[in-house]
Amino acid sequence: MIKSTVKKFAEEQIAPLVSTMDENAKMEKSVIQGLFQQGLMGIEIDTNYGGTGASFFSSVLVVEELAKVDASVALLCDLQNTVINPLIMKHGTEEQKATYLTKLATEKIGSFCLSEAEAGSDSFSLKTRADKKGDYYVISGSKMWVTSAEYAGLFLVMANVDSTLGYKGITCFLVDRDTEGLHIGKAENKLGIRASSTCPLTFGNVKVPEANVLGQIGHGYKYAIGVLNKGRIGIAAQMLGLAQGCFDFTIPYIKERVQFGKRIFDFQGLQHQVAQVATQLEAARLLTYNAARFVEAGRPFIKEASMAKYYASEIAGLTTSKCMEWMGGVGYTKDYPVEKYFRDAKIGSIYEGASNIQLNTIAKCIDPEY
Ligand SMILES: Cc1cc2nc3c(=O)[nH]c(=O)nc-3n(C[C@H](O)[C@H](O)[C@H](O)COP(=O)(O)OP(=O)(O)OC[C@H]3O[C@@H](n4cnc5c(N)ncnc54)[C@H](O)[C@@H]3O)c2cc1C
Repeated sequence: MIKSTVKKFAEEQIAPLVSTMDENAKMEKSVIQGLFQQGLMGIEIDTNYGGTGASFFSSVLVVEELAKVDASVALLCDLQNTVINPLIMKHGTEEQKATYLTKLATEKIGSFCLSEAEAGSDSFSLKTRADKKGDYYVISGSKMWVTSAEYAGLFLVMANVDSTLGYKGITCFLVDRDTEGLHIGKAENKLGIRASSTCPLTFGNVKVPEANVLGQIGHGYKYAIGVLNKGRIGIAAQMLGLAQGCFDFTIPYIKERVQFGKRIFDFQGLQHQVAQVATQLEAARLLTYNAARFVEAGRPFIKEASMAKYYASEIAGLTTSKCMEWMGGVGYTKDYPVEKYFRDAKIGSIYEGASNIQLNTIAKCIDPEY
């Protein structure tokens, strides 16, 4: 039911705006409002807080369905549901939940601020600090690559309260957009997912009340690892949906296009390529759904999540590249959506842990198994 509702919403309300949003590198307000109205920004949030009260698997299906139409919109929805909301649901006080979950489910976008210019894959070497002064903290430093920063009302900021403790000083803070000293920089001009804003942030002595510490002091790194492990399944779903959307657009075209007196789909050389891509897409889907099932069953899922994210990203790159070839010259133009899918696919192997980092994690999990 969720899948068909989201499909209808995406086709009717997002699809007509995709190309303009990509060109202008701006998310339309109506799309953001639509996501909230459809209950897609608080999928797992309890109904008591105004959420939809559905499962993690539902989030995965929603992200996949949205990404068939637009990967940027899928990312906005994905981060809210697989990173921001779960962090507050799991580690927030009752007061924080009442204040923030209700807003996140209905009107407020959240951003996750971990990466810095010098701390990417090695994210816990971050330098942003939070100094305690009485009953508040003063955050100073800067962040990079903050997704949705242009539209966000809440920032979950990882900062170190005591650099002598190394990563064990990292703490998560809830920072409201209008807090004095918080500056949102100019959005990056990107290859793909252009409608998703990605901005640097600077913190010039930003005062945050002690009550806005999320969970325990010094546990930020644990929370980040935990939530990003799960979040990777969301990115796998984004890559899977994007690849499927591109494939679904391309096949009807090659069944119509005639060369050498035959539909190009009828050449066996092409059919074999189509069959291979379809098989790999199905494998990516099963890896993604399987990892989501492991999460729901309460079983260890780190290896499965990394495999899903790594493989779905690879397959999204392959599928979109092949679709462009199958479309010929027109696939290379902006008159068709295939070149956008191709550009959007590249981010899968970079963010929420680059592909090499996923391979490191998979190998680390395999090591003790033998
Ligand atoms: C569009 C976009 C949105 C993003 N959104 C967010 C966000 O919302 N919040 C946030 O906190 N961050 C965000 N990020 C940051 C993202 O997670 C980082 O870009 C990513 O972790 C990689 O870090 P880096 O760019 O510094 O690359 P680097 O860490 O410099 O890596 C460069 C290359 O080196 C390889 N490499 C690094 N270490 C190893 C190793 N140990 N072994 C083998 N290879 C290695 C990597 O695989 C990669 O190929 C976003 C990034 C982008 C581009």
